[in-house]
Amino acid sequence: MPSLTVDEARARTDLLSIASYDVDLDLTRGDKVFRSRSEIAFRTARDGETFVDVRPLDLLSVLLNDQPIDPSGLSDGRLPLRLTAGEHRLVIEADMAYSHDGEGMHRSVDPADDLSYVYAMTFLDAAPRIIGCFDQPDLKAVYRTRVTAPTGWTVIGNARAHEEEPGRWRLDESPPLSTYFWTIVAGPYHSISREHDGIRLGIHATQSLAKHLDADADEIFTVTGQSFDAYHEMFGIRYPFGDYNQAFVPEFNAGAMENPGCVTFRDELVFRSRVPKGQRSWRSRVIMHEMAHQWFGDLVTMRWWDDLWLNESFAEYMAYRVCDEATDFTDAWVEFAHVRKHWGMLADQRSSTHPVAGNGAVDAESALADFDGISYAKGAAVLKQLNAYLGDDVFLEGVRRHLTTHAYGNATLADLLEAWKAAGAHELDAWADAWLRTSGPDTLTIVDGALHRTPPLDRPASRPHRLTLRRIGSDGVFDAVLDVTSDVTPLPWRPAPGGLLVTDGQDETWAKIRYDADTLTALPSRLAEVSDPVTRGALWLAVRDAVADAEISLSTAVDLLCVALPHETEDIAVSALANWASTVLIGQFTEVTSEHRERVAASLRARLDTAPQGSGLQLAAALGLLPLLHDPDLLRGWLTGSAPVGLVMDAELRWPVLTQLARLGAVTDRDIASELTRDPSAQGAIHAVRCRAALPREESKDVAWRGVVGDGSLSNYEVYALCEGFWWPDQAELLAPYVDRYFDDLPATAALRSGIVVAQTASLAFPKYAVSHRTLELAESSLSGAAFGPALRRSVADRVDDLRQALAVRAAA
Ligand SMILES: [Zn+2]
Repeated sequence: MPSLTVDEARARTDLLSIASYDVDLDLTRGDKVFRSRSEIAFRTARDGETFVDVRPLDLLSVLLNDQPIDPSGLSDGRLPLRLTAGEHRLVIEADMAYSHDGEGMHRSVDPADDLSYVYAMTFLDAAPRIIGCFDQPDLKAVYRTRVTAPTGWTVIGNARAHEEEPGRWRLDESPPLSTYFWTIVAGPYHSISREHDGIRLGIHATQSLAKHLDADADEIFTVTGQSFDAYHEMFGIRYPFGDYNQAFVPEFNAGAMENPGCVTFRDELVFRSRVPKGQRSWRSRVIMHEMAHQWFGDLVTMRWWDDLWLNESFAEYMAYRVCDEATDFTDAWVEFAHVRKHWGMLADQRSSTHPVAGNGAVDAESALADFDGISYAKGAAVLKQLNAYLGDDVFLEGVRRHLTTHAYGNATLADLLEAWKAAGAHELDAWADAWLRTSGPDTLTIVDGALHRTPPLDRPASRPHRLTLRRIGSDGVFDAVLDVTSDVTPLPWRPAPGGLLVTDGQDETWAKIRYDADTLTALPSRLAEVSDPVTRGALWLAVRDAVADAEISLSTAVDLLCVALPHETEDIAVSALANWASTVLIGQFTEVTSEHRERVAASLRARLDTAPQGSGLQLAAALGLLPLLHDPDLLRGWLTGSAPVGLVMDAELRWPVLTQLARLGAVTDRDIASELTRDPSAQGAIHAVRCRAALPREESKDVAWRGVVGDGSLSNYEVYALCEGFWWPDQAELLAPYVDRYFDDLPATAALRSGIVVAQTASLAFPKYAVSHRTLELAESSLSGAAFGPALRRSVADRVDDLRQALAVRAAA
């Protein structure tokens, strides 16, 4: 299927303006197919030819101004239209296929109770899989939607829904929306309603999660209300889309999707087991991110996908900021340093790095490839820098002007820059050129009492940084704000003897930070005493980056972990560091058999034993420890009553223990089946898939692999679980044949699945622990051939960059 190009989109915008869509769906025609009728009222400025987008199972009829058009003209999802100037009415009736990969109209059956649920995901190219439409962001229109659904179902969407007779639903007319925002969520959902500041709020989840949604409702509604208050004050425009529904839906690919008035979330965000506080904090930020989009993205929408970054960077920045300022979750910027920035810094140093802005998406599909750590994390960090550069008053005044000027329409980065200039910003073009139109991070290094700024080799740039230099010594903690505007910036201090001099100690900019020799020497003895968790996050970000560059040795990294982990007070930091240790440090950078594993495990065990019993910190330490435990008897004990005191062995802790046992070959299929009897939920079923794939047996690996590369009937979550359970560093011999098979079999997966699922599967299924020159040669020769399409190529190329890095670290060791 061709993806719409920017030139095609421009031509259609020149020709058409859309007045309205009347959508009518029938969801009562079985579990494979639904009926779709779209009536589009639009006008053409002149005579011309164009096409409407529709990707049906069966195109039943098309009427243009009451005259039939031959459906056999449909080719590659496009039906040509020859139009005269004036008003038109196009009616498209089709049978459409339900999907099971989270794109289009996803339908799933909950194994806990056999109830069925559907939701529409129209992002990027998926809307024509549900309705006939002119599918591009800058052809906005109002929607009047009707749905026929099985009786007993609830239907929600972008405007308030009314059940006018049993099973027959009518939604109010929506405000003007881009096609990729249109959605419905339908099924026997469990719903809870509240009101905040005159806005009707709804939250929804499957029946099998009902009691967990009830338990989490107060927290979700509280955070939602806090965000509305904060955004109303910051943006100066009231929430513009009527009711605000948040639906936690099955098998959702992303964290969430910002459909106006009806946000869809992955339903793991309804917690059915105890979770560390960092997880609750993270959910709050997902909620806030989608709420920021209601203004920035939904009310004012990018003209084309090349400004997608702007939506994401802005929503990301706002979510962290509002979470920190307006809620009880105080760890937002701690998580940003440990998790999001690390993700972004890796992305910004791969060969696929790109400028934050102007990624130049020639078509919608290629925009997806840049939906990465740069668009989210780097973009947010850069907006944080801009805020520091402009000051908050100018920053927010510019945003308000932008939202007011372009409400219900489309805008570009240039429009936003104009709004900031009108609000008083100076020299913004030079700033934007330096930060938004360049790629790669500067390196900031302390040498002889000065801070040296070095842009990436081959990518010259002159970026201003505003950051805090933090001096930590026995005489106290001192901060100085530094404006780094030249290549060498004198520092006000040398490090205190035996102390630390932390560049960007508040984690405010975007750079590779390198410490001076005195600080590096003092770090092992001082790290545990650094009291600000954001500073610790900034220190770790720099350390992990230096380890990846083979500038800090693996044994030093392990020493630092052993010093830091037993004293780390933020559960999100424990989780992030443990995850890095058990996947990257041990597994990719060095063999799993090394003594490093036991040392890191001992430090996590120390954290577990000294954390308050029953705390999120204790749980985070336990979850981080599990992949490093190779003693089956100990692990079995956790399941049978001798878990560490205070740990509650509920479903989401029992399954990781069982997965680790499976990886070690210490459970049978019967053990997995019996755990599934204990937890017969949708989530349990996915855990069981992962467990079976982890078993170190030829037949288990064979079944799993055939599922990943050959079975298009599996759901997206089943495929991901197979990939996650497949590769382990200690199963190298058994898995050796699959290194070749990955490169041979992968191209066929592009025909099995679509969009994000293809890219995600390629990434998760990569043989990440087969760190050898042979794997690299296989990868390079595959990438140079023609078998990999664009969706696969980017995923594989990124993993190959990681492989090169691991090889370099191993060579240096
Ligand atoms: Zn977003």
